[in-house]
Amino acid sequence: MRSTLLHGGTVLTVDGNDSVFPGGWVSFIDWRITGVGPAKTRPDPAGFDEAINLENHMVLPGLVNAHTHSAMILFRGRAEGQSLLTMDGWYNAIREPELAMLAEDVPPAVALSCAEMLLSGTTSFCEQYFFAEEIAEAAGRSGMRAVIAYGIVQLGDEKRGEEELAKATAFLERQRSADGRIIPWFGPHAPYVDNTEDLLKAEAAIASKFGVGLHLHMAAGPEDNEETLKRYGLTATQALARDGFFRGRVHAAHCLDLSGEDIATFAEAEAASVAHCASAGLRSGREGVCPVVDLRAAGVVVALGTDNVAANNSYDMISEMRIAGLVATHREGKAQILSSSQLLRMATIDGARALGLDSEIGSLEPGKAADIIVVDTAGVGYSECPDPATLLIYSGSGRDVRHVWVAGERLVRDRMLVRRPYADIRTDYSRAYEIFWARVQSRREAA
Ligand SMILES: [Zn+2]
Repeated sequence: MRSTLLHGGTVLTVDGNDSVFPGGWVSFIDWRITGVGPAKTRPDPAGFDEAINLENHMVLPGLVNAHTHSAMILFRGRAEGQSLLTMDGWYNAIREPELAMLAEDVPPAVALSCAEMLLSGTTSFCEQYFFAEEIAEAAGRSGMRAVIAYGIVQLGDEKRGEEELAKATAFLERQRSADGRIIPWFGPHAPYVDNTEDLLKAEAAIASKFGVGLHLHMAAGPEDNEETLKRYGLTATQALARDGFFRGRVHAAHCLDLSGEDIATFAEAEAASVAHCASAGLRSGREGVCPVVDLRAAGVVVALGTDNVAANNSYDMISEMRIAGLVATHREGKAQILSSSQLLRMATIDGARALGLDSEIGSLEPGKAADIIVVDTAGVGYSECPDPATLLIYSGSGRDVRHVWVAGERLVRDRMLVRRPYADIRTDYSRAYEIFWARVQSRREAA
């Protein structure tokens, strides 16, 4: 048993009252938080195996990146001038080189993504991609918590759909990893556009059989609604509801084009949530913007995601909160329609709710897992400010994250990864990057 006390920092608990304790404290034993409170109730540091004085720091729950594709770090900066939320843009920028990707390219890429996420304060992420086995293993090695949705791209190849379904089932059968941090889900890529209706129905049935969630892109590109309206006279959301997608847990990324009826479908479902990817949406040049305010008003859980690195170029969830706040303000024409504490909830507890993990993570409360991050606020930009969440979101950066724990395990100490040095991860990645892009090039030349 090992006990730890973090004290003297500003603690943003993200509990039900958004309690903030300046000079407060958090204690945990092994993996579990045992206490949180204001300065005047601080326990004696001498009673702990380790006590860390965090004056001039903020202490908050680990951030949850609710939508990404971590192997796609290989495409950083490779989609400039292309919209990744249209079929054409995605195909030209990503799909063509992606077809050259081999399983061996994936672990070093995922390791670098996990390193970037951890070092900028993200402790949990929701992944959707193929190579789910390799991703799960690499994410597991990083120590992060991750929901890994097994992605299927069928694109008219029915045999491939069947094979993938069998592999995905085998992936789900294994359930959570032994330490509980890796959680397998199912993830059709872009419904109807690249998965047939039969395959989608089979996917929903398998997810329900194993009691796992479905994570997919929904109403992201114009093709989504166009395709289903043409075929069935229904929006993508309504078509998916008809095919059983809203019966269990469903977590949908983007949702740029939702009708009032679509929002009601999300609200009425037992466990439906949205991953709002503000940067990716802005960058795509699409006219639609996720109706975050309407979704929240209807009671729908809206979490935040960076989407893939090519759609964003960054995993910094602090910056993602800022952009989500600005986008909502612009869309609604009302200054800061999402408050800083609401944005912080979206990046923590609402992300946890979307992944069905809110009883374990997402806030600093006794009994929850010790997924905790510490932000150094001694540096430039962090002068006096009445609201610490505003200070963090609008003046801060993921680069100011100093310490990170997941399930009580210290994964970042003084801005350095504990399990494996960043420099080693980066060296492996650079080698994999060279090999991957050389392979893409030789395929292009052979074509
Ligand atoms: Zn995506």
